[in-house]
Amino acid sequence: MVAEKSERETSAAEKLISIAAEVASCHKCPLARTRTNTVPGEGSPTAEIMFVGEGPGRDEDESGRPFVGRAGKLLDELIASLPMRREDVYIANIVKCRPPNNRDPERAEVDQCSNYLTQQIEIIDPLVIVPLGRHALGWFMPELRITQSNGKIFRNGNRVLMPLLHPSSGLRNPEHMRMLRDGIHNLGDAILEGIRVRNQVVEHSQHPIERSHEPPQDRPSADLVAESVEANIEPQSTVVEQAEAVALTETVPTEKSESVVNIFERSQTQDEIQAELKRQRAIEAAQEAADKQEDKLVIDDRQASFF
Ligand code: SF4
Repeated sequence: MVAEKSERETSAAEKLISIAAEVASCHKCPLARTRTNTVPGEGSPTAEIMFVGEGPGRDEDESGRPFVGRAGKLLDELIASLPMRREDVYIANIVKCRPPNNRDPERAEVDQCSNYLTQQIEIIDPLVIVPLGRHALGWFMPELRITQSNGKIFRNGNRVLMPLLHPSSGLRNPEHMRMLRDGIHNLGDAILEGIRVRNQVVEHSQHPIERSHEPPQDRPSADLVAESVEANIEPQSTVVEQAEAVALTETVPTEKSESVVNIFERSQTQDEIQAELKRQRAIEAAQEAADKQEDKLVIDDRQASFF
């Protein structure tokens, strides 16, 4: 398990480095002419949480790193309140070069650049994406408004999104600062939703035939679409597909989900969370070995009955 994870980490890190190299030599849009440095993004290549801003500002352009100015310091503070470390998450922007005078990137610039972000998301495969600010949210779900979506959890295809106001807006507006500090604490729930969605996707790919059964009539799909309804938008898949997804969720052992909830509730630090997750994996491995042993004994019994 550990070897597999480190293999994935290595592979993801190599792919991200390759994208950063491509970005460094990119001249696909006019922003290449005015930039000092490209700002591809940084953080854990297998991060469970990915923060996405609109584009680099002056400090980021000078350093080549995302969110390092005053807004970046506030973002660090918000991450530390989870508790997590900046190194545990991935931070990127939609455009990788600074627009002059911090203007909004133009549509054509976003269109030229966003493929890099799409690739980064596919490689990192985070449980939750946190669009920071109106423009970043608009790239993912243009139908939403940032002030109404701050700290709420949305499903976007196979991804879970939890938008937050841009930290720079929190620095200017005390009410937005309060909303940011409140909103970030919903990330624990967003992570659990991300785990649920990932389990659904895995189940869907592993048991495509089992999906053909009728969804339970007494279990509405409202759970899955609640956030979309709250945002007054149409759900992305049909009601039948969502009801099937709910049924598939029910096949996931509840013990594992509860453990994850407990881990987040009782652990104080990131190290404690990691240690507890490792302990859970060891318990699962031991259980799996015991199940295999039991299966073997049953087979041995059956073979013995032949002689
Ligand atoms: S903003 Fe993106 S597309 Fe434009 S030059 Fe920079 S890396 Fe290339």
